[in-house]
Amino acid sequence: MLLDGARRPLREARRAVPAPGPRQVLLRVAACGVCRTDLHVADGELPDPKLPLVLGHEIVGDVVGVGTGATRFAAGTRVGVPWLGWTCGACRFCRSGRENLCAEARFTGYHLDGGYAEYTLADERFCFPLPRELQAQYAAPLLCAGLIGYRSLVAAGDGAERLGLYGFGAAAHIVAQIARAQSRRVFAFTRPGDAEGQRFALELGAAWAGPSDAPPPEPLDAAIIFAPAGALVPAALRAVERGGTVVCAGIHMSDIPQFPYEILWGERVVRSVANLTRRDGEEFLALAPRLDVHTSVETYPLHRAPEALDALRAGRVRGAAVLVMEESEAE
Ligand SMILES: [Zn+2]
Ligand SMILES: [Zn+2]
Repeated sequence: MLLDGARRPLREARRAVPAPGPRQVLLRVAACGVCRTDLHVADGELPDPKLPLVLGHEIVGDVVGVGTGATRFAAGTRVGVPWLGWTCGACRFCRSGRENLCAEARFTGYHLDGGYAEYTLADERFCFPLPRELQAQYAAPLLCAGLIGYRSLVAAGDGAERLGLYGFGAAAHIVAQIARAQSRRVFAFTRPGDAEGQRFALELGAAWAGPSDAPPPEPLDAAIIFAPAGALVPAALRAVERGGTVVCAGIHMSDIPQFPYEILWGERVVRSVANLTRRDGEEFLALAPRLDVHTSVETYPLHRAPEALDALRAGRVRGAAVLVMEESEAE
């Protein structure tokens, strides 16, 4: 499924199966998650994507070919491909464990073709081995929603016992499970009127669920904002206790409205979380099965990717939307 340019509908296209270059693996895609970032790319909110582009950066696939020097995975190995597709390895960020901030980084489904396809290429150094027993559609959301959610949870701080989650979608439904397993209490904020989303949060163990325009029943220690709405930043600052952290987890957000210094005072912190490091992925993918994290998914066949994006845009997805390749499509 190809994106030709911003705000153009995805179109179905036939292309030759690509040949892997040095250190690349050729993957037959089994499933690919649909992430809000895909909407930001498709809507032109992120600058300079590769065009035409294959979206998708939560790829689960099987290695079916390798390029020169690619020795990490044997044919048949199941791997996951995340958003971080390549880094320079030489800059001060790469050399200090902060490759997520590399200025030369290339991202899957943005600068590099991604997983809305039957086949894709990936640099083997940025793939994660995945256990076979994990079904592809359930594993896919771990690769961005789970991973960025995990990085955001770490940024919220170990001491954050009362944790607010703004926007209860793919990432929050995974973070809520980890937070619960760590004995934190989760306060879930949804779009006003989204009773179904609030019910979903309570089913996953949230202590409270309510609309994002109302205060929580008690002060929070930290909040993570997954929804791309800047107005939530002052709302979350008002919801957190002195010393609390507000983490903005999305890659794009509407402008943050002006707010009084008083709601930041008291050593409250506002910060963003950008991308991921490979280390985040290794840590999270080891932790998720130990904590018995289960993803809720709504699956679509590949050619229905536009519908999946529309459903995500409308807030109609419970958990994560995932494209699954039908046998006939992958032949
Ligand atoms: Zn770098
Ligand atoms: Zn993503």
